[in-house]
Amino acid sequence: MRLIRFGEPGHEKPGVLDANGTIRDLSGIVRDITPETLADGLLDKVSGVKIDDMPAVQGAVRIGPCIKRPGKIVCIGLNYKDHADEAGMERPSEPIVFMKATSSICGPNDNLILPLDYEKVDWEIELGVVIGQHASYLDDASVESVIAGYCIVNDVSERSFQLARNGQWTKGKSADTFCPIGPWLVTKDEIQDPDNLPLKLTVDGTVYQDSNTAQMIFDVKTLVSYVSKFMSLEPGDIIATGTPAGVGMGQKPPVYLQPGNELVLEIDGLGVQRQTIVEMARA
Ligand code: ZN
Repeated sequence: MRLIRFGEPGHEKPGVLDANGTIRDLSGIVRDITPETLADGLLDKVSGVKIDDMPAVQGAVRIGPCIKRPGKIVCIGLNYKDHADEAGMERPSEPIVFMKATSSICGPNDNLILPLDYEKVDWEIELGVVIGQHASYLDDASVESVIAGYCIVNDVSERSFQLARNGQWTKGKSADTFCPIGPWLVTKDEIQDPDNLPLKLTVDGTVYQDSNTAQMIFDVKTLVSYVSKFMSLEPGDIIATGTPAGVGMGQKPPVYLQPGNELVLEIDGLGVQRQTIVEMARA
C-alpha cells in the first residue's frame, strides 16, 4: 500500500493511493497516520479494506508528511562509501548515529525555508525506514518484523551550523522544513529489496545525486538492529539511512541552495518530492 496524508498543514487526512494513483480517503477507517494509530494496528485495518470502495479525493490537494509527528528521527552519517570519500572522512567502522528534531518535518512538496543567518544549506536524499512496532535489542533476523515501510527523506543540512559552530551535528539538521518526508509511506510488502533501490536528486534539472542503496556501507537490517541496541524504537520512528555522494558540499567548488532553486528527489517505488527554496521572512 502507498499511504498518504493530504490536506492543509495541521489538518491532514489519511489516504491511500489506488491502482490508478488516485487518492482514496481513509478517514472513515482510521483517524490519521500517527505513531499511535500505527501502534494500534493501522496497517492491518487498512489492508482489510477494499480501496476502490473508499471515496476518491477530487482536485489538487497538498500532500502532508506521510506520518504525523513521529517520536524521533534517527539519522545515519557517512553510510555511503562514495559520500564518506567526498566528505574527506574515513569510512566508519560502526554506524554513526545522530538525531534530527521532529519539528523539522514537513510535506514532501512544501517550500524549503532557508533559516535566518544561513550560509551553506545542502541536500541529502535518503531512504527512510519507518518502524511499525516497539523494538529493542533486535537481532538481524527480527528486523523485518518491526518495519512498517519506507519513505523518501531529504535530510536537509546547514553545513556551517553543522560543522563550524561547535558541538554535534544536530544544529545543522533541525531547522523548520529541514525534513521533508513522503510523499508516501510505502508498506514493506511493496519493496522487494530495500538494499537495492536507485535514488536520484536534481537541483534545477542538474543531476547531483544518482546512486543506489546497494552502495550503503551498513545495510537496512544492520542499521535497524544496531540502533535498537542504543534506544528503543517505537511505531512511527524514522531511521534515515544516510546519503550517497553528490551533496553540495562535495562539489568543486561547493554548491549550496539559493532562493528560487527547485529540488527534485526520487527513489524507485517511493515516489517523488519537489521543493522550492525560499528565504525566511525576517520579523
Ligand atoms: Zn543525512
